[in-house]
Amino acid sequence: KLTAKQATNTDTSNKPSPFDNLNTDTDADIMLSPSSPQQKEADDLVLREVLALETNLARYTALMQLLSTDRSRFFRIAQSNLSVVLPIIYTPVVGEACQNFAQLDIPKRGTWLNPWEHQGKILSTLKAQLSANTPNVDVVVVSDCQRILGLGDLGANGMPIPVGKLLLYSAAGGIDPARTLPVVLDVGCDVDSVRDDPDYKGVRKPRVDPDTYDAFVDEFMRAIAEMYGKQCFVQFEDFGNANAARLLTKYRENFLSFNDDIQGTAAVGLAGILAALNIPDVEGDLSKHSFLFLGAGSAGIGIADLIAQMLVSQYGMQLEEARRKCWFIDSKGLVYRGRNARLTKEKEAYAHELPAELQNSNVSDMDLTATINALKPSGLIGVSTQKGSFNEQVFAAMTKHNAKPIVFALSNPTSKAECTAEQAYNYSNGNIVFASGSPFDPVTLGDKTFIPGQGNNCYIFPGLGLGVSLAAATVVDDAMVLAAARKLASLVARDRLNSGCVYPKIDDLLSISAHVAKAVWEEAERSGVAGKSGIDVTVDDIRDAMYEPGRVRLSGY
Ligand code: NAP
Ligand code: MN
Repeated sequence: KLTAKQATNTDTSNKPSPFDNLNTDTDADIMLSPSSPQQKEADDLVLREVLALETNLARYTALMQLLSTDRSRFFRIAQSNLSVVLPIIYTPVVGEACQNFAQLDIPKRGTWLNPWEHQGKILSTLKAQLSANTPNVDVVVVSDCQRILGLGDLGANGMPIPVGKLLLYSAAGGIDPARTLPVVLDVGCDVDSVRDDPDYKGVRKPRVDPDTYDAFVDEFMRAIAEMYGKQCFVQFEDFGNANAARLLTKYRENFLSFNDDIQGTAAVGLAGILAALNIPDVEGDLSKHSFLFLGAGSAGIGIADLIAQMLVSQYGMQLEEARRKCWFIDSKGLVYRGRNARLTKEKEAYAHELPAELQNSNVSDMDLTATINALKPSGLIGVSTQKGSFNEQVFAAMTKHNAKPIVFALSNPTSKAECTAEQAYNYSNGNIVFASGSPFDPVTLGDKTFIPGQGNNCYIFPGLGLGVSLAAATVVDDAMVLAAARKLASLVARDRLNSGCVYPKIDDLLSISAHVAKAVWEEAERSGVAGKSGIDVTVDDIRDAMYEPGRVRLSGY
């Protein structure tokens, strides 16, 4: 009983016709009177009703129903209550929504494409099905759902991920929701329990062979560019580790593409580190730091690459030297030159010569604490999904070698975090700068309260996408990602830093995105990839151009 209109929305067809379901929301924005106290009261009541529901899934379902029946109200509520709504429409609840997708009673949203039906005709299918509802698209989020959060291969059930990311593009980044397109490439699923669910809506086949896969992704990229132009921004999301970096490398030069798991994470991770440099007792010069990463996957390598990029572009270091500031431990132990266990191309770049004192020791027997004692890093970054791996000894070692070390436990969801915030502050006696991937409550030690920062990618991608779109950029280069990170770091207020927090408030996201967008736009111009000049545009101008329900924009972007 969220709204009266909901009763008319009874989408009973359970069979997925992938193309009949795209963004069919009516756009009533222009009819609305300016937001009034009565309207705010009514919105608050709806939100309270949603929050009073018993389960997270029920709250997710109610919000998705509200989205399709009263889009304006959905976005008004989301934009005025970001820190409350975001965890429901995105992590962590979105993970549950994916796991239960087959049974969820939500209006269909987004489009599924599969090679068995659509190979060779993606463009004509898109044209036939989408042009009426979605004449123009600024941002596409596409997933093949092979690695949904930390939950693995969920096949066609992963749709809430691209849907959720795009809701954040609008709610936090001001991209018009009518100009967004969530896509799942249903290339099969290798998990029997997902495929065999009687309500599964995807194709019940194993994942396609690599050649078919590559041809299908390629056809998709070309179809999007053909349909919506070279300035349509395509975000890759939750692809498996074997494809994520490979596809990004393949497409980033010639298509306006971005991988949030790699580049978004890198920017948010580096921003946290840069903000930490402003905290007393932390060495303020990035080039004097060194980092040990537990975990050498998309997230860890992404962050290290961006740190190296910054050391090269801002400090004039050679790339090799910059990379030597970052060491990695993967599931087989320390990554170093000459290690027996196989190294991927990405890890190879960080396989450094062992320091002299380690050359005769049995490195494969070293645990994390011993590695910290040997390498004495000033920062420790957890991206390993190994719960509990940052234990008391680890903190003792980090605080022994540094006045105030940086320790980020970024693994998600909460059940995978390397440590909790409470453990981090307790084990270090408060002598660290801590941030996490999942949200943790503030921790009080004696008379001091610490606010753990949450390194959420939503600080970066909505503003980055907005900036790219405003700039009419044709590629996202590393300098733009770096500019986004540096801008985010600069937005952390002094009182947050004093509480040990290296990220700004989630409730300020709309304004944060406007700042990030401007920084990205300026960098795109400097890099010569911007189609539009924007140096004279102020952050307020950008903020004014961002989508808000009930507001008629005078000049579009
Ligand atoms: P990934 O590509 O699968 O990488 C995981 C890495 O962890 C691999 O290098 C793996 O080693 C390593 N690992 C596994 N067990 C280990 C162990 N016992 N000791 C040391 N390393 C071990 O995953 P990802 O995309 O990088 O994500 C990693 C985590 O970061 C996830 O929990 C994800 O949710 C989180 N994350 C957080 C944010 C954020 O907070 N903003 C953003 C992105 C990701 P091998 O290489 O040997 O297999
Ligand atoms: Mn992701």
